[in-house]
Amino acid sequence: MPTVTEALLAMDYGPAPESPAIALDWLKRGPFGHFINGKFTRPGAVFDTVNPATGAALAQVTQGTGADIAAAVKAARKAQPGWAKLPGHERARYLYALARLLQKRERLFAVLEVLDNGKPIREARDIDVPLAVRHFYHHAGWAELVADEFPGMAPHGVCGQIIPWNFPLLMLAWKLAPALAAGNTVVLKPAEYTPLTALLFAELCIEAGLPRGVVNIVTGDGETGAALVAAEVDKIAFTGSTEVGRMIRQVTAGTGKALTLELGGKSPFIVLAGADLDAAVEGVVDAIWFNQGEVCCAGSRILVQESVASVFTDRLKARMARLRLGDPLDKSTDIGAVVHPVQLERIQSIVAQAVEQGAELHQPGSFDGCFCPPALLTGLGAANVAMQEEIFGPVAALMTFRTPAEAVELANNTRYGLAASIWSENITVALDIAAQVKAGVVWINGTNLFDANAPFGGMRESGFGREGAREGMLAYLRDPAPGGKARATLPAPVALPGEGGGAGIDRTHKLYIGGAQKRPDGGYSYSAQGSQIPLGGRKDIRNAVEAAHKAAGWGKATGHNRAQVLYFLAENMAARQADLAALSSKAEAEGAVARAFYWAAWADKYDGKVHATQSAHLTLALKEPFGVMGLICPEEAPLLGFISTLLPAIAMGNRVVAVPSQGAPRAALEMVQVLDTSDIPGGVVNIVTGPRHDLARTMAQHDDVAALWVFADAETCAMTGRESAGNLKPVWAENSARNWAGTEGQARDFLRRAVQVKTVWVPYGA
Ligand code: NAD
Ligand code: MG
Repeated sequence: MPTVTEALLAMDYGPAPESPAIALDWLKRGPFGHFINGKFTRPGAVFDTVNPATGAALAQVTQGTGADIAAAVKAARKAQPGWAKLPGHERARYLYALARLLQKRERLFAVLEVLDNGKPIREARDIDVPLAVRHFYHHAGWAELVADEFPGMAPHGVCGQIIPWNFPLLMLAWKLAPALAAGNTVVLKPAEYTPLTALLFAELCIEAGLPRGVVNIVTGDGETGAALVAAEVDKIAFTGSTEVGRMIRQVTAGTGKALTLELGGKSPFIVLAGADLDAAVEGVVDAIWFNQGEVCCAGSRILVQESVASVFTDRLKARMARLRLGDPLDKSTDIGAVVHPVQLERIQSIVAQAVEQGAELHQPGSFDGCFCPPALLTGLGAANVAMQEEIFGPVAALMTFRTPAEAVELANNTRYGLAASIWSENITVALDIAAQVKAGVVWINGTNLFDANAPFGGMRESGFGREGAREGMLAYLRDPAPGGKARATLPAPVALPGEGGGAGIDRTHKLYIGGAQKRPDGGYSYSAQGSQIPLGGRKDIRNAVEAAHKAAGWGKATGHNRAQVLYFLAENMAARQADLAALSSKAEAEGAVARAFYWAAWADKYDGKVHATQSAHLTLALKEPFGVMGLICPEEAPLLGFISTLLPAIAMGNRVVAVPSQGAPRAALEMVQVLDTSDIPGGVVNIVTGPRHDLARTMAQHDDVAALWVFADAETCAMTGRESAGNLKPVWAENSARNWAGTEGQARDFLRRAVQVKTVWVPYGA
């Protein structure tokens, strides 16, 4: 007779399939048109949306045309003022209604999502749909509170939103809920592989009595998406591939459209020797085998400390072999179908390349239909394609490290910066690593935790902007536009031989790089304010960026420490106020001194938050400096504008390369004397004078400049937006003049845009 243990081990799962009947019944309403102005349109040219698990066509949906997009935008435009004018409480009630209706139809949504996407029912039912519901409830709350909590801010207007196929309903919720709460109206384009739950959601909008035109949904492929990006919308919010994100960055440059991008990742999953290894193995299951690995923040690079690597890898392989691949509707399935054969091919091709480059592939199970067995790649180097490229499939790549410092180095050895997961029972070490990784979200002893009250989003080429929580609301609100006139285009200055000095001035002007005065690399100058001013170029910007990088200690100093240094700077400015006034105006010099005290005051006060999310977790939303920022300071207030942009950036811990006014740079150059006698470490402030447009281009293209502010003419603003698409740095480009002397000159935006949010999930309890 077998023992109980033997019997348990021999037991297999019986199938426990969820019936697709309710969803198939609903699908009979097709073929589907779009949802525009509160009604479904007649279907146009249609395409099939397919169940990847079976290859069967589920329904026909309409390929959205430019005319469809235009009609949807028109409806959204018409509805927007009325929607924004509703008391927050009224908007909240609609969002509550949507949350409740969604909750009531959870099962239908979950099954429909499974059919269209191929994900396992257990995940759709327990994760996608409940999180979407939570998102609408949370943002109903923001609708209620937005006027109190974001005084003076306004919605953008009409938002174009484009979402991917990996979490179709959840991404819809992430996009719609904050936009609507803030008073925007929306045109949303779901992904072509998975449009169905969005169409079902449209029915809820009707049922909730949402005013016509507030939500519009247009189905279609990338072309439909491109038409939406080009349409008369005020903001684009995009989630998808980095490649398409880059294109959108380029085409929205100079249009005045606000932009947030949530792009790809190659997130590290770091296992330290002292970690609970069994928990970490389960963590990997959730990190890379959840949702077939089709997760932008998937922990796809497993980094394990050498001393535990072999035992960890063995346990991981054993666990992987037990994952159940199969019918997504079966409740005991762990891994369902890949969304589309095209995606399966992509996964297989990257894995093949990785193997060609020397990786060893462990992949129990075989390929059948649109399914990909879970896989682990070992024995690869940091340059292997599987360590660098997002695979977007159930494939983990594993490498080892010796020390925590090496783990950080490997973790950051990617162009992405979306998420990171850190496993250690030593919370001090884990938090130390969390502080050093370049990632918008960090999970300690956990992975893929989400909550509507936890900001989510990336750094570097994973994009910019946050979704969820108070921080996410900011992506759908804006400060009043500056009241000044559009700035005129500046002709490039005429180069003169010699690098400064000249008749009638008491000293030779130089660039300020790394805390020292430097001659411009080209050896030329130009004439401004009766002086010869150094004509900086590409090489000088590069040197300045390098010097700024070396001054990394500034970002680690305490806020109090930075405040003290900035107060001392302010005092020194006051002592030289007359000199500064002589090169600008009395009012500007007075204003600049006051502003220096103002930003010094903020240095230790613009701090993060602890968000209430899941039990037994502290969810920290930290405000981190970008690192090295570029500043194209305004032409119109050569001293006050320079100080007003420089100081908030460094108060928050950034190091900057600043290009002052081209026509009147002398007050900024005079500041070199003040900086030299203050305690600001060399390299924190670098000043390069010269042709603003060209210097701005070099900064926009520079991969080591993490964020850029451009207070310049329309042409320079547009150019920097386009040229920043390389490393996808956030660019704050503004072409209308600000009244620097007034409140516009010290708006809260200067703080918000000087930091990026890092969300750190810290667990507690046994
Ligand atoms: P994608 O970026 O092509 O598509 C995302 C969305 O953008 C879809 O709705 C698509 O129709 C739309 N789109 C495509 N081209 C567009 C354009 N030129 N202008 C406007 N919208 C456009 O992503 P994909 O083809 O679905 O997947 C390709 C790769 O992207 C995946 O293998 C994966 O690496 C990555 N991806 C990332 C995420 C994420 O959440 N970060 C999600 C899905 C895919
Ligand atoms: Mg489909």
